[in-house]
Amino acid sequence: MAEARLPTVVLRGGTVVGADRAERGDVLVEGGRIVAIGPGIEVPRGSSVLDAGGCLVGPGLVDLHAHLREPGHEEAETIETGSRAAALGGYSAVVAMANTDPPIDHPAAVRAVAELAKGALVEVAVAGAITKGRAGERLAPLAEMAALGVRIFSDDGRGVQHAGLMRRALEYARPLGVLLAQHCEDEDLVAGGVMHEGAWSSRLGLPGQPALAEESMLARDLDLVRLTGAPMHFLHLSTARSVELVRRARAEGLPVTAEATPHHLTLTDAEVAGFDPLYRVNPPLRPAADVAAVRAGLLDGTIDAVATDHAPHAPDTKELPFDQAPPGMIGLETALSVAYGALCLGPEDDVPGWLRAVAEPDAPSPRRSQAPPVPRLAGAVELFRLMSSRPAAISGLDARGGHGGPLAPGARGHLCVFDPGERWRVDPGAGASRSANTPFASRELVGRVRHVLVAGEPVVVGGEAQR
Ligand SMILES: [Zn+2]
Repeated sequence: MAEARLPTVVLRGGTVVGADRAERGDVLVEGGRIVAIGPGIEVPRGSSVLDAGGCLVGPGLVDLHAHLREPGHEEAETIETGSRAAALGGYSAVVAMANTDPPIDHPAAVRAVAELAKGALVEVAVAGAITKGRAGERLAPLAEMAALGVRIFSDDGRGVQHAGLMRRALEYARPLGVLLAQHCEDEDLVAGGVMHEGAWSSRLGLPGQPALAEESMLARDLDLVRLTGAPMHFLHLSTARSVELVRRARAEGLPVTAEATPHHLTLTDAEVAGFDPLYRVNPPLRPAADVAAVRAGLLDGTIDAVATDHAPHAPDTKELPFDQAPPGMIGLETALSVAYGALCLGPEDDVPGWLRAVAEPDAPSPRRSQAPPVPRLAGAVELFRLMSSRPAAISGLDARGGHGGPLAPGARGHLCVFDPGERWRVDPGAGASRSANTPFASRELVGRVRHVLVAGEPVVVGGEAQR
């Protein structure tokens, strides 16, 4: 869109979330950029005024980890539908993972996806594969893809199994200034497991995969980071020991970052009790002690970001029996509400019962009441740090697209207006995603995205996508 045709917009009466504090104020956006922030801004003639009363006004969210499925699985999602879901979830930018069909493992594929992403409602950054065909045998042409602007490389969906190959990938990536992102999963140790190996897998008679399948690859890769000096990002941490390994690595000064998903900070392996394939995901849902550790890792800064791992699957594939259904959950439209409920609400708040239940230690029933008090984020500044500024910095979308704030005059007009007072129930059929495989179906969430501006264009107004 030509900047001259962009509307002038005033976000009126919200609480503006800055880098270190949140203050009441209006935001004036003109020509794609923020031009003023403060109380009682005069409304220029011809501008549109969007009500932000009672809302948090923060920088547009940035997702480090989304599967948009195009090319190859357009029946599950397209860049258009996935980016509309992202906009409705408060995002201004997402990183699209490389496990498309065919995978994004060569320059022409990068160009093709970038071309498809041009008209998208949010900015779509293309991730490249680390290995050819994501087969884990030979390196993909990282330099040629980096020359096209690819900044994150990952075989996500699979981990790079061979340590020697991963070492070479890190040595190759370092001078290119790109980031390798690992899906930690040792396939030998997984050995056909379809859920977390523990009390629930025994009870249900389903083959389990041990937490060690994640932790051993993470430990190996932390050693490779120490050896090579190359930075590395760890996708979807899900166990207490993973969080502890990253905590120690950071204390040691290793250049590592990490993310966690909304589902790993709210749901436990007890959900699998009903054999509903909606709860099949990799890494699998874990016991409550792991959930608590992941939350603690986000709260103390060990884990940098909440990332969705939005993984759409067409309905017919998710109607298979649990052990045959593909792993994965959608998450773009619910991530901010789920993270807000899990990380920002305390015992004095009216927290939905399902969110209280998962804060408990390992219990045989997923539906106990009387949760112990859980630590929580100090507030909105930290929430937007986890979902906007840190992921923007990790992905390079701060420098490249002006994502992640801080909100200030001159900054790009990427804004997310979130109403923490609105409560809603997730209707999987009502979303913009082409798939409906959300584990939060019919659950009550607290807080909802009201308006979203991307580069000054109101793409979501009053909870409705504008195109
Ligand atoms: Zn993954």
